[in-house]
Parts: sequence; C-alpha cells; structure tokens
Amino acid sequence: MHHFHYQDGRLYCEQVPIEVIAQEVGTPFYCYSRATLIRHFHAFDKAFAEVNHLTCFSVKSCSNVAILHLFATLGAGMDIVSGGELYRSLKAGVQPDKIVFSGVGKSEEEIVYGLEAGILMFNLESPQEMMLLDECAGRLGRRASIAIRVNPDVDPRTHPYISTGLKENKFGIDLEASEAMYAQAMEMDNLDIIGVGCHIGSQLTEVAPFVDTLDRLKGLIAKLRQRNIQIRYLDLGGGLGITYANEDPPHPTEYARVLIEDLRHLDCSLIFEPGRVIVGNAGTLITRVLYTKKGPVKNFLVVDAGMNDLFRPSLYGSYHHIQPVIDRERPEVRVDVVGPICESSDFLARDRDLPQIDQGDLLAVMSAGAYGFSMSSNYNSRPRPPEILVQEDKFEVIRDRETYEDLLRGERIP
Ligand SMILES: *Cc1c(COP(=O)(O)O)cnc(C)c1O
Repeated sequence: MHHFHYQDGRLYCEQVPIEVIAQEVGTPFYCYSRATLIRHFHAFDKAFAEVNHLTCFSVKSCSNVAILHLFATLGAGMDIVSGGELYRSLKAGVQPDKIVFSGVGKSEEEIVYGLEAGILMFNLESPQEMMLLDECAGRLGRRASIAIRVNPDVDPRTHPYISTGLKENKFGIDLEASEAMYAQAMEMDNLDIIGVGCHIGSQLTEVAPFVDTLDRLKGLIAKLRQRNIQIRYLDLGGGLGITYANEDPPHPTEYARVLIEDLRHLDCSLIFEPGRVIVGNAGTLITRVLYTKKGPVKNFLVVDAGMNDLFRPSLYGSYHHIQPVIDRERPEVRVDVVGPICESSDFLARDRDLPQIDQGDLLAVMSAGAYGFSMSSNYNSRPRPPEILVQEDKFEVIRDRETYEDLLRGERIP
C-alpha cells in the first residue's frame, strides 16, 4: 500500500496532483510520499517491537538528507557504505552510535572518519581491513567496535548482480574462515568484538534464505561464545524484496515472525539494514513524453528521463510499472519507453502495453524510490532531476534540479 492513487482520472501523491508538481518544477523529477516513507519504516521497525533491535536504514538505497532526517526522527540508525554516506547521515542528525559501516573497500580516510565520529560498529570484510582499522584506532587513541561480515554461502535466489552471500561473491568472510578471523581479532589491541554481521543480497522474495543464513550464524555465535568471544549484536543485513510487478515477497511482519521464532534464547540485539522495502514503493519518477515514434517493428515513446536518471532497467533489466499521470481510458498499444541517451540500453520499459499515449503526456515510473535517484548520474551531461517530498497537500523540493553550471563544477581548462 502506498499513497499514489487516481482521483477523477488524475494521479495524486497524497493530496497533491502530480501534474501540479510538474507544472512547478518541470520534468523529469523524483517524487516521494512522506506518509508512505513513515508507514513503511514503522511497518518494518514495529514488526520487531518485541525484541531488542535497531533498524539501520540502508543509505545507499535513497540518500537524500531530508529523507535520512525523517528516518532519524523516527529513531532509525543508518547502514553506510562510504565516508560520503557517513557525512550525509551526520548532517541529517543521525546519532553516530546508531551507524554501522559496511562495505568491502573502506579506505583509510573513511575508517578514520568513522572512528572520529564514534559510530556503533565496523562490519569488517577482510583481514587486511581489520589490521588497518586496528592501526588507525591505535593511532587515534580510540577503540573500534567490530563485527565480521560473514558470507554464509546461501543462495538468495535473486538477480545475480544483487546477490552478495554466495561463495563466489566478493563480500564478507566465509563461515569457516570467520572463526579464525575472530580469534585473530581477539589479539588486536584496539578492537572490541561486539557482533556478527551478514547481508546476503537484495530483492529477496522468500524468507527461507534468511532462515538458512540465521541458522548458520547461530552455529558460529555458539562456537565463538565457547571461545569466550561475547557477541552482543547480530546484524542480519537488508534485502527484503518488494512488489515491482507480480512478486509476492513476505510482509515485514511475516519476515519478523519467522526470524523472531528462530532467535529465541540467542540473547543478542538485532540489527537490520533495510533499504528497498522501506523506500522502493514510496517514490516515483515522473517523466514527460517528448516524442512518439513509429519504427519499422516497434512503437517508441521517447521520454525526458533516461538511464542516467533511473539505471535499474538498463543495469538489471528491472521491471518498473509505468502509468499515465492523466488516465483517459484509451485502448492499449505495445511500446518501448526509451530515454534520450545515446545507448540502446537506455530504456525504462520494453514491449509494454500502455494505454495510447500522446506527445506531451506525463508518465509515472512507479517503485522508483530505491536505487533510483541514488544511482543516477550525469551521463550525456544531463543535469540530474530534482527530488520532491510530498506531505499531505503540500510539496517541498528536497533537492534542486542540477544546472549546467553544476555539471562543470570542479572542472578547469589548464
Ligand atoms: C545494499 C545493502 C543493504 C540494503 O539492501 P536492500 O535490499 O535495499 O534492503 C543492506 N546492507 C548492506 C551491507 C548493503 O550493501
């Protein structure tokens, strides 16, 4: 459920007609529903109300500082994967002791930044990273709290590009090696072991891979406790999927019920790192049809948003539902919805049956809240679109449309 709906044939976000925003800010633009963001955060967070837990929103899924701030006011922590995301989180008013730092390639500079900020924990992904963290902490006269990100070798049955918990993936430490790495961490002067972490992939539509992962991690935690390594936090990562087309992912309450069942007597605080499940269906990309074009074998809608604005269809072949902003109940036509970028992979939809659309019409590309704006680029020297946050009958520009000057920022002719 979300707050995008038709009223008298016009698409609204909460109580604001989308066309009104388009008139004001132009197209394309990202539009988020504040009520949906809040509801989705609560749906996830409250599902775990009966156990000790911290919901760390995955910043990379949707990084706007206004949205991070909104989640911070709801009590969220953040899951970050870069110094830039730490900076955003701090600017958004997130408490540093609710921030977990994931990622396979943290630089020394990023590690130092995390230490100085006093984050909750570093999720380590290699022995060399562990050495560097220990050295940096020693130099700063600080202690670093750590978890090791374990790669449980569980198949998340999702797109290969967003699967992260298989042996062949670059992420984490495999289960067998992790015990030895924990033993090694015990010997380090400046590290405090506090947790075990994992993140097996994204857009999971079943609970089973999470349960398999949990069972493997429980075994590890038991072994570590035998060695007197006290594990206080179990970080189960993110990855819960959403409905883009006709997927039927478990509701957060179902996900929580199964995990909580399996977690009794474990005596750990849980950390979750959800991204997509919270923001995915809370955002849409609005674009205008520049031209309709009939090729020898296909009909094209050439729109003003391209792969630089929404990369998922080109990158993963992802499906996004597309609907007209003004619904005129016309017969359906099969079309490719394509952008202005000079690449054949620049499409938002292929072979899609849409009601007949005219030049100048507005289209809403749905479920674009996660990995939408945050993956956008300036490819083809296209200024990135603005981000709009709707609250009831008002809307706010939470990021301006970029200008041509923005495109050249930092460039110089020697
Ligand atoms: C991307 C990522 C997440 C969020 O994944 P979603 O599928 O959006 O929930 C969580 N944790 C880590 C380490 C990630 O890399």
